[in-house]
Amino acid sequence: MNIINKLPKSVANQIAAGEVIQRPSSIVKELIENSIDAKSTVIKVIIKDAGKQSISVIDNGMGMSKVDSKNCFERHSTSKLKEADDLFHIKTMGFRGEALASIAAVSEVTLKTKTENEKTGYQIIFKDGSVTKENDISFEKGTSITAKNLFYNIPARRNFLKSNNVEIRHIIDEFIRSALSHPNIKFILINEEAEMYNLDASNLKKRILAAFKKGYENNLITCDEKYGAISISGYIGKPENSKRTRGEQFLFVNNRFIKSAYINHAIKNSYEGLIEEKKFPFYILFIKINTDLVDINIHPTKTEIKFEDEKLIYNLVKSSVKKSLDKFNVSPSINFDTDINFTKNINFDISQTKKKEITESHSQKKKDWEKIFENVKVENSDKFLFEDTSSIENENNPVQFLENFIFKQVGEKLLIFNHKFCQQRILYEKYKTSNINKYTNTQQNLFPQYIEFNESDFKIIQDIFDDIKSIGFNIDYFGKSSIVINGIPSGLDDINEKEIIDDFIEKVKNNNSDLKSDKRDIILKSFSKKARIINNKKLSIIEMNLIIDRLFACEKPKYSPDGKQNFIELGIDKVENLF
Ligand code: ADP
Ligand code: MG
Repeated sequence: MNIINKLPKSVANQIAAGEVIQRPSSIVKELIENSIDAKSTVIKVIIKDAGKQSISVIDNGMGMSKVDSKNCFERHSTSKLKEADDLFHIKTMGFRGEALASIAAVSEVTLKTKTENEKTGYQIIFKDGSVTKENDISFEKGTSITAKNLFYNIPARRNFLKSNNVEIRHIIDEFIRSALSHPNIKFILINEEAEMYNLDASNLKKRILAAFKKGYENNLITCDEKYGAISISGYIGKPENSKRTRGEQFLFVNNRFIKSAYINHAIKNSYEGLIEEKKFPFYILFIKINTDLVDINIHPTKTEIKFEDEKLIYNLVKSSVKKSLDKFNVSPSINFDTDINFTKNINFDISQTKKKEITESHSQKKKDWEKIFENVKVENSDKFLFEDTSSIENENNPVQFLENFIFKQVGEKLLIFNHKFCQQRILYEKYKTSNINKYTNTQQNLFPQYIEFNESDFKIIQDIFDDIKSIGFNIDYFGKSSIVINGIPSGLDDINEKEIIDDFIEKVKNNNSDLKSDKRDIILKSFSKKARIINNKKLSIIEMNLIIDRLFACEKPKYSPDGKQNFIELGIDKVENLF
């Protein structure tokens, strides 16, 4: 007995539609993409009952002829692909020719459209797989598509939809993604007759500010890199504004929103040490790449992509984001010129500096700092404390607040430092650059100290032996599984060497990395947290100035080695707003 039937077209369409149309927001996405492909300059989205009752997308694009208006509902009907080879040169948002067929398979669709050349417009209503009405109408150039009663014919799918709030959120997400990737198009979103968004055509920066409303002006760092045929551009958020929730991460490849855990990882990785592990940086990045080096035809929703050379893209993204963060880090927004203690006559603002000059300017910055510290005799000093301290006092004396904070006026701003974090940054950078093969800054112990380890811990000690020495510990092997500590790093206030070395072992043990450079970094971080330049609870003015000055001589003064903010700035407006 033969048991195989060919499914009726309507059933086959419903099954296929399931992949493309999962919820109301999928319809919003597909219809907006069609309007973009039709070269519209204004796209309006109207939603009722979170899209469950109806979704309309109205554009002023090229419209469709009468014949096309019917054909567009056929599966695999598209004006965007002609032959298989075109799949490798896709320049449009759509290409699979299945969105309208899918939408029509799961809702009642009304299409109104008119091309430039036709005198009248045309309306066609599509239900249950066939045209139920068609007639001429008066209509402006463009297309309006309304999908009503979503999943009316698949109750299980309809019941599966989430609450209106959730579905609306998905719709807004799709709307914003499209709006961000096409800032040159005006986008409007109307929900239950109220205007939620009205985004005028503009550039990307203005679009971001309009789309995210308040507070983003000061959060954006430009990213703009070109590597041969591949470019990476857009904006990334300042580390301190990263959030605990995901959602403001946008990656576009050739203007198409893409979900890629891999590239997301590259970006997150670039922020390492600048943000806490659990936080996510804001970014809106556009990768432009030759269409034949990517494959977008992986999934019906077209949100996944395959790069021919994934590793290359990973590294390019990482290096672009790092570069942008570096640029931002060397141009603090404080006006240092107004404070005699800081970078008088030095122009740090390299934000306008051309790309090529970045590295030069980076080393110039270091030189500039060296110049300042020449005056206060810190150059080549093994000690942390200045000998001639008179030159670092001035009329804007810092003030200590509770134990942990230092307040200091710099120009028109009030800076609040967390001095523990600041000290960590200072120590971390000092030892990061110190030479592995040389004892630096060691002070001899009066009585050598011996530490015995178990086998496995001793293996770790052997691994990190040179790194411990490079910090200034004078250590030697002693017996089978012990070391002797003859000297400890100088210039530090009261350190407990045994506790510090135990902590090294613990931290290295808990980290899976086998990389030598990672291990060294773990040790430096742990050390900078345990040691102190100044351990007093009550800091003198000289000590506070010392910490601040040394902090700003660091390459990354803004953050502790763990990515915590070392200081915050309060401008006049912020302070005035407090009253
Ligand atoms: P695809 O976008 O993959 O081609 P769709 O099913 O989304 O497939 O659309 C089918 C065709 O209908 C498109 O190729 C296009 O020719 C036409 N079309 C759809 N929407 C519009 C629109 N808003 N304006 C003009 N033409 C449209
Ligand atoms: Mg389409």
